[in-house]
Amino acid sequence: VKDRVILHSDLNSFYASVEIMRNPALRGKPVAVCGDSSRRCGIVLAKSQEAKMAGVRTAMANWEALRLCPQLIMVPPDFAQYKKYSRLTRLIYQRYTDQVEPFGMDECWLDVTHSVGLFGSGEQIAQQIRKTVREELGLTVSIGVSFNKVFAKLGSDMKKPDAVTVITPQNFRDKVWPLPAEALLFVGAATKRTLSRLAIHSIGDLAHCDPDFLVQSLGKSGRTLWLFANGLDASEVLTDQEIAPLQSIGHGMTYPAPLEQESQVAQQLFCLAQDIGRRLRKHKLCACGVQLAVKDEEFHIMQCQSRLHQPTQHARTLFDAGMTLFQSRYLWREPIRALTLRAIELIDETEPVQQSLFDACSTKSLRMLDATIDGICRRFGPDSLKPASMLDDKRYSDEKRRLN
Ligand SMILES: [Mg+2]
Repeated sequence: VKDRVILHSDLNSFYASVEIMRNPALRGKPVAVCGDSSRRCGIVLAKSQEAKMAGVRTAMANWEALRLCPQLIMVPPDFAQYKKYSRLTRLIYQRYTDQVEPFGMDECWLDVTHSVGLFGSGEQIAQQIRKTVREELGLTVSIGVSFNKVFAKLGSDMKKPDAVTVITPQNFRDKVWPLPAEALLFVGAATKRTLSRLAIHSIGDLAHCDPDFLVQSLGKSGRTLWLFANGLDASEVLTDQEIAPLQSIGHGMTYPAPLEQESQVAQQLFCLAQDIGRRLRKHKLCACGVQLAVKDEEFHIMQCQSRLHQPTQHARTLFDAGMTLFQSRYLWREPIRALTLRAIELIDETEPVQQSLFDACSTKSLRMLDATIDGICRRFGPDSLKPASMLDDKRYSDEKRRLN
């Protein structure tokens, strides 16, 4: 089989680069794009190379960034511009292939296997793209070229900005194996801890393990990581058609035994919200609204929706909104046959940060909680976690007792 030729292209310091490109007076200065720069509680969304040198990090609180770098120039984000340049960059990629799969606003995978006859080798195509993006848009990308998506992504991280890194079936042992295991896509903090307990520190360590041993310690994802480390990732770059933008993410259930109590509805909604939250995070999206549909035994359908105070991808927030809708809008006449909860008005997850992080701590801990839940569900199945907190929730506990 012929090796695939896959590129991963990453716009460098994307938000900050767009701001500097549009306002050349900022060039060469420490610049940070900050959510809510007027208030001390905003956070850094992106920073220029100069700000990075001064110790400014993404997701750092504004005041902390200013303490480290008093001359820091803070600019508010302009998401309409970032969307525009994200799209323009994608149009450049599409001159080389129709297989362009975005990953967030600033990253894309490209499968150029069938374009090499037209445009030259993977490396030559990467160099052309790098130059074109710089000349036409005034932005820089770093590109990884490899024979699978995982190594292509690793490559785009190895040299930046404005650079190309090639990882081949011949050189990946030298280039990739010395890297720490967490450099691999999907190795999060929890997996990293498990791996280091097993004395697995580098990607090479991972590659040399017995895959069955990894499955014992990490579940199914153990095998995936072993495949990744050995250059055996076979996942495909999706085409435009396959990734039609998601308008909404919903989940519904029809119940064999109709629901008769609010506490039952709460439990079911919580499960639906868990699933929706997980899918939002998987697709790097946030919901600005929630829609609830309730069908009773007489097939009456009540449907209503509400806007959220802030965009979210957290199950608990979706659940609260769904439950509020239910309590305020549903008049019990008949037992309930089916429930559908839907996250609507979806936006890219990078967009809402400016507002939602005015309470950075609780958002951060919600994120960690979500990541933990996602990990457990990946390992033990989507039903492995039950909402125990619900049992003590005062709003529902009375009926719960009656029910039991
Ligand atoms: Mg980037």
